[in-house]
Amino acid sequence: MSFVKHSARLKHITRHLNAHKSVTSAAVAHVFSRSTNSQEYDLIVIGGGSGGLACSNEAAKYGKKVAVLDYVSPSPQGSAWGLGGTCVNVGCIPKKLMHQAALLGESIKDARHFGWNVPDNISLSWEKLVPAVQNHIKSLNWGHRVKLHNNKVEYLNAKGSFLDPHTIKAVLQNGTEKTLRAENFVIAVGGRPRFPFEVPGAMQYGISSDDLFSSEKPPGKTLVIGASYVALECAGFLTGLGFDTSLMMRSIPLRGFDQQMSQLVSDYMENHGTRFLKHCVPVRVDKDDRGLLHVTWKETETGKSHQETFETVLFAIGRDPETSQLNLERAGVEVHQQTKKIVGNNSEQTTVPHIFAIGDVLQDRPELTPVAIRAGKLLADRLFGGSDILMDYDKVPTTVFTPLEYGTVGLSEEKAIDMYGEDKIEVYHAFYIPLEFIVPGRNAEQCYMKAVCLREGDQPVVGLHFIGPSAGEVIQGFSAAMRCGLTYESLSSTVGIHPTCAEVVVKMHITKRSGLDPTVTGC
Ligand code: FAD
Ligand code: NDP
Repeated sequence: MSFVKHSARLKHITRHLNAHKSVTSAAVAHVFSRSTNSQEYDLIVIGGGSGGLACSNEAAKYGKKVAVLDYVSPSPQGSAWGLGGTCVNVGCIPKKLMHQAALLGESIKDARHFGWNVPDNISLSWEKLVPAVQNHIKSLNWGHRVKLHNNKVEYLNAKGSFLDPHTIKAVLQNGTEKTLRAENFVIAVGGRPRFPFEVPGAMQYGISSDDLFSSEKPPGKTLVIGASYVALECAGFLTGLGFDTSLMMRSIPLRGFDQQMSQLVSDYMENHGTRFLKHCVPVRVDKDDRGLLHVTWKETETGKSHQETFETVLFAIGRDPETSQLNLERAGVEVHQQTKKIVGNNSEQTTVPHIFAIGDVLQDRPELTPVAIRAGKLLADRLFGGSDILMDYDKVPTTVFTPLEYGTVGLSEEKAIDMYGEDKIEVYHAFYIPLEFIVPGRNAEQCYMKAVCLREGDQPVVGLHFIGPSAGEVIQGFSAAMRCGLTYESLSSTVGIHPTCAEVVVKMHITKRSGLDPTVTGC
């Protein structure tokens, strides 16, 4: 029987099983494997990033024959990197290390107030920072290769695309082509930074986060365009590292996040040296003989035009999925019409039953490393380990690593009001001063937190928001409590750890409704 007929048969079986609401991906895989024994692999994973590596390593633990393909198309500026995907090479890891470098600069200044004799003019060596960051990345690239090898996952440094629903073409680094067939496929190709095609010179002269962390040249005076995670984080650490940094924002900061918190995050950045160009969009980027970039932009409200010279222009205006070169139509996998991301059901199954998608490439899922990893692992367990545990995309915690970090889990205040109505919501909040800010006299105006609770019963906490030092470390623990059904009653009956910022979370007692001053005073 041909693979196409097989696919049609599988589709028919799946439709039938779906109709009885009993389909599981494992069942579909089982039906397939009984009727064909000639497949070369049990599983082929396309994309060796956070999700793809987790899925392939886990699948191999069940003794399955697994291959993972990973290929990095160079950025428009020519940047490329090793195994591990976005997080390891051009995302979480270099970002957090550069954020840390910026925080250390701030701490060195604070240290003077704690008695350290610090010279007046401290400065950063970008030339030392970049190799330090890149060396760590290389060790992670190597570690991932070793792990695949140890788990007996076949790794191909190759670009994959579908020939038919059970066959892919793998184009290796040296141009050699291979044809591989498998019973199951997982697409985990992630995404890449978007450039505004309508802005002349943007792609030609601008860079993205794909280029920044490995740039040998210090960025110098930089314009960051965009106002979400990537833009705010990059602008934040560049300012902290001592570069003259401007951020161009066309609308609001951190769309989708709690807007009170987002405003505080950007206010802190503005007070700490990042220049904000609000309600502005780029119009064109030109380069002169000296390599300087002349950016023309306009104000969206007045249409007024401006021009200024920068050394680096960083576009951080979102990411597009890497689906265009996968030949998905040959496999029958549907993508979202606008975003071109892959449409999947709650078991990450695409419109083709034996083809799954995880991580950033999947429509309507958070673009976060731990999400991709967990989804990949659980999928492998369901496919080969008899598990029926689905990935739970609810209450996923996250942190924006801006100079003053913002950690959050659950609903924003706006979303909670939308879902439940203002009368049904109680918001407990507090402005506080971290002890470590007091001696150096650091401004703590934006150190704030709130718990968004339902008013009924024990007041279940539906959203928790924290701005302050080490926000990721603080929110991680509380997110576990939220998964266990945290209520305001249990939160406020928890004994704090003194003296910490996190203890303020369990001591919040002023409601927004009361109108009382939520500033924490005293010890
Ligand atoms: P990726 O990690 O992007 O991996 C996909 C891989 O597939 C890539 O190596 C790609 O080159 C490869 N590929 C693509 N097409 C093909 C093909 N046809 N054949 C073979 N290989 C292919 N998340 C967090 O949780 N915390 C953070 O602090 C954080 N910081 C970030 C900072 C930045 C600047 C960015 C850009 C992202 C950040 N993220 C963060 C998001 C996180 O990096 C992603 O959510 C995560 O990497 C997604 O994993 P993935 O497996 O879906 O895709
Ligand atoms: P997002 O899609 O989250 O945000 C895009 C930003 O660019 C928005 O501010 C948007 O403004 C703006 N924008 C879009 N188009 C234009 C344009 N043509 N001109 C000017 N501005 C424009 O993208 P990011 O790249 O910031 O982040 C991608 C994902 O990566 C995030 O969703 C996140 O999940 C992940 N990530 C996670 C991090 C973490 O965990 N700490 C860190 C970094 C990334 P508007 O609001 O007006 O549309």
